[in-house]
Amino acid sequence: MSIAEERIERLHELAREAATEDEYDRAREYVRLARRLAERNRCGLPKSFQRSTCDACDVYLRPGRNARVRVHRGRVVVRCLECGATERYPFE
Ligand SMILES: [Zn+2]
Repeated sequence: MSIAEERIERLHELAREAATEDEYDRAREYVRLARRLAERNRCGLPKSFQRSTCDACDVYLRPGRNARVRVHRGRVVVRCLECGATERYPFE
């Protein structure tokens, strides 16, 4: 694992912790930092990171708190309650 990937992991953890404390703006800052790092190092973001963050507003998603998750026609539908954006991905 590269240094960038390790830092992204760490930022993912920090974003989760901030969201757990309802500090959504702080969570967004960590998510944005991680996205920038991934871009700069062309290493991409882990699937777990992509699926626990909102593509539209960068918030860290907590199902039941700031996100609603349901399964529809074999796909997972995640709605961000912060900005209203919806993401879908195949159910695995
Ligand atoms: Zn959002």
